[in-house]
Amino acid sequence: MPKLNENFRTIDNVNFKDKKVLIRVDFNVPLDQNRQISDDTRIRESIPTIQKVLNAGGTVILMSHLGRPKGGYEQDYSLTPIVPRLSKLLGRNIIFTRDLFGQKTFDVCNNLKSGDVVLLENLRFYPEEEKGDKKFAKQLASLGDIYINDAFATAHRKHASTATIAEFFPGNKYFGLLLASELRNLNKILHEAKPPFTAIIGGAKVSTKISIIRNLISKVDNLIIGGGMAFTFIKAFGGEVGGSLVETDRIQDVKDMVQEMMLKGVNLYIPTDAIIADGFSDEANFKESQADDINSDWMGLDIGKKTCRRFAEIINKSETILWNGPMGVFELPNFKQGTKAIAIAVASATISGSFSLVGGGDSVAAINMYNLADQISYVSTGGGAMLEYIEGRELPGVAAIMND
Ligand code: AMP
Repeated sequence: MPKLNENFRTIDNVNFKDKKVLIRVDFNVPLDQNRQISDDTRIRESIPTIQKVLNAGGTVILMSHLGRPKGGYEQDYSLTPIVPRLSKLLGRNIIFTRDLFGQKTFDVCNNLKSGDVVLLENLRFYPEEEKGDKKFAKQLASLGDIYINDAFATAHRKHASTATIAEFFPGNKYFGLLLASELRNLNKILHEAKPPFTAIIGGAKVSTKISIIRNLISKVDNLIIGGGMAFTFIKAFGGEVGGSLVETDRIQDVKDMVQEMMLKGVNLYIPTDAIIADGFSDEANFKESQADDINSDWMGLDIGKKTCRRFAEIINKSETILWNGPMGVFELPNFKQGTKAIAIAVASATISGSFSLVGGGDSVAAINMYNLADQISYVSTGGGAMLEYIEGRELPGVAAIMND
């Protein structure tokens, strides 16, 4: 992904007066058994963009998906539960249309008054959405005058409402405030990082993080590896890891990456001690151990105390910090200390003036678990989209706005 340039189209200076503005938002929120919203973060994050358009005299037509319906109407995936919450957050009525291309929708969208907000039903009730279908995208496009994409979490998908639709708005397509902010902060990490730059990568499997690590080798000064994936590194260095998670078929990849790190002068830090257990459960016996000398009946489920201290020292000396993936099985209380220690170290480095970006479901969950979100420079909500961006891949939803 190139640096953000003159094609970085933000909504800062756009005239929305009397314009119908189609906004792709991410209202893919978790619902409980009673179809009540259990976390409305994503709705709240979309409010600034919607509000900005409304304040500037525009009307708003919102498009989103929810869950993974099979391609037709399913009540469980209807966006109806969003309506009251959105209405409350915006302080105005929401017009909800069930049928994307029925006469009612066209009539509603053609007769909007300044300040009106329309929410279209779940786009994924139409299989054309995920196929990125051109005819479908054109029909959606016909509803508005301007297109804004503010759904970072789906920016890595080449769907009708996230990518194809942008073709129909040459010169009239923009990044919403949330998406622009994600890109600005990720670019700070990828292209403007102040050294020393430390990336902390954890999580279960090294196979899912190889592309990220490869792309980071040419950017970082320090690479800290934790979580289950650290054991494939330890094994590659000849250590005994017992029953810990190891991807034997990735050992050669790890060796190749380590060699590249040496060539590029990257300092690699892997755990030297671990919390090991005789089962993958909170009821299992557990104790401290050297990380490269684990008996076959035991498995490493967290980083040890010495490793926590060493990792924290490196983090504290860093000007730029990227963190993705837990240091251990932090869902189980006996194995959460490593992840907690790293969360605290990243927060305290940030308080001392470093720039920190934390992304990915589990690391964000850990930051929230310890109420540290306010002490991190930027918490990315992108998940898969963020990982692909850090891998250096072009996101279709981003490219569709940047390229005419
Ligand atoms: P990922 O989605 O790849 O970032 O992996 C996150 C998962 O890795 C979490 O559910 C953790 O429980 C798991 N994990 C972290 N450390 C270990 C470990 N040492 N052994 C097994 N799983 C781990």
